[in-house]
Amino acid sequence: MIESMIGAFDIGGTKIAVGIIDAQGRILTRSACPTESERGFPDGLRRMIAMLRESVARAGVELTGIGIGCTGPVDPFTGMLLTVETLPGWQGGALVPGLAEAFGVPVAMENDADAAALGEARWGAGAGAKRFLYVTVGTGIGVAFLQDGVLYRGVDGSHPEMGHIVIDAGAPVCYCGAPGCWESLASGPAIERWAATRFDPGRFAAGELTGRKLCALAEAGDPAALAVLERQGYYLGVGLANLVTTFCPDLIALGGGVMQSAHLFLDRARQVIRQYCTLVPADRAEVALASLGADTGLAGAAQVWHHRFGNGKD
Ligand SMILES: [Zn+2]
Repeated sequence: MIESMIGAFDIGGTKIAVGIIDAQGRILTRSACPTESERGFPDGLRRMIAMLRESVARAGVELTGIGIGCTGPVDPFTGMLLTVETLPGWQGGALVPGLAEAFGVPVAMENDADAAALGEARWGAGAGAKRFLYVTVGTGIGVAFLQDGVLYRGVDGSHPEMGHIVIDAGAPVCYCGAPGCWESLASGPAIERWAATRFDPGRFAAGELTGRKLCALAEAGDPAALAVLERQGYYLGVGLANLVTTFCPDLIALGGGVMQSAHLFLDRARQVIRQYCTLVPADRAEVALASLGADTGLAGAAQVWHHRFGNGKD
């Protein structure tokens, strides 16, 4: 066993989390700050360096390397940020080179869905699955595919955007340019948009009908809320059915904020898979919930380093 101490960064549009993670996946330190990417990339890099230095000192360890999971798109090989919609002001930022220079250790970065998949595959729900899909359903939908623990990459290292497969070509156009993307029909904001059309006007004040409120109403048997979650189960299921038909996976693990309410719609999604995936061994494709919870981001970022530089058995 290689004893490793990885500095892990989980970078989202609103928050940057950092932690030190040992070879067994234990998180030794955690801290976070607002992303505030509009302050510019050099400012963000300085804050990240300061946070990690403080974490290293607090944990009293020597860093082996640094792993990053970052909202995308990112270039995993040059370590540069591309045009990341959720990180205005950071476009083109040389994140990996900047951290490598500051700490003098190997640094690796992946898209956050890929990072989370690597974390779940090693330390979470995906352990032991040979063909593993991780799907995160929250503000958007992100998907990653691992075969034998190795991340599938597209041309030039690109991350396939399976949250933007077209589910309903007659539906309104998504920000990506395609109509009726999975994300535009089954993400958290999609649920709230649809819910707003299902309830009598005036029943709720603006912003009052949150996902949490909707779930509470469904649990109380409210017909409009149940209809919204039936639709959610259906569209989640259609997207998952496409993944099952395409990859014939052993396991799909579902994470992200929306899945905290999975008990209200996951059975419906499984039913759609059984109904639509008749040409592949769909009964062999287990659909389960991700298990790392709030630790997924940091655990995933650490696994980004192990996936790139480790021997996979540490
Ligand atoms: Zn789209």
